[in-house]
Amino acid sequence: MKKSMTLSYEVGENLYINITNQCSCNCTFCIRKNDDGAYGSDPLWLEHEPSMAEMQENLKQRDLSRYQELVFCGYGEPTMRLDFACELAEWIKSTYPGVCLRLNTNGLADIYSPSQKGSAANLVSAVFDKVSVSLNGGDAETYLRVTNPKHCPENAYATMLRFAQSCKQNGLDTCFTVVDVISPDEIKLAQEVADTLGIPLHVRNYIS
Ligand code: SF4
Repeated sequence: MKKSMTLSYEVGENLYINITNQCSCNCTFCIRKNDDGAYGSDPLWLEHEPSMAEMQENLKQRDLSRYQELVFCGYGEPTMRLDFACELAEWIKSTYPGVCLRLNTNGLADIYSPSQKGSAANLVSAVFDKVSVSLNGGDAETYLRVTNPKHCPENAYATMLRFAQSCKQNGLDTCFTVVDVISPDEIKLAQEVADTLGIPLHVRNYIS
C-alpha cells in the first residue's frame, strides 16, 4: 500500500477532498480494494490524518473558483471526522464565498461519529450545499450484504435513511446513490424507496 499526503485531487470539473482513510463500512464495490488512488490520482492512503492547518494550506495552493464543486469524499468516510469536516467546510465557505460544497457519505455518522454539537444531518445541512448518500439497496438485507457496516448493523439502514430524510427536510440538495453491483430487481426496489422519500437516485457503474 503506497501512502502520501494527497489531501485534494481533481476529478473532471470537481476537486475532491481527502480528510481521512477511516471508514465504518466495508463495501463490496469499494474502490480502495482495487487501487491506491482514484481516477489517476496519486495514492490516497494518508501518512497521517491532516490537521486543519494542513488542509487550509493545501487548499490555498489552488484556485477554488475553477471547480464546479468541492467534494468531501476521498479514500474513506469523511464523516468519521464529522466535526472536522464541518469545521473545514465552514472555513471554505467563509474564505471562498460562492464555492459549492458536496458531501459524499454513507450517512452513518450518528452511529460511528456522533457529535456533541447536534445530529449529523443538522450539522451537515448548516455548511454543505449538497449531500450524496449511499443507499446501496432497497431493503436492509441488500444494504447489509453490500456495505458490511462494522458495528450496529441492525441500526445501519434505518440510520442512513433517517439521515437522508433529515437533510432533505433541512432544505439540503440531497440525492441517493447505488452502485450496479446489485441486481436490476434490487435497483428497482431502491428506486421505489428513493421515490417514496422524494429523493433522486443515481445509479453508478461499478469501477473494477
Ligand atoms: S463507505 Fe465508501 S470508503 Fe467506506 S467501504 Fe464503502 S465505498 Fe469504501
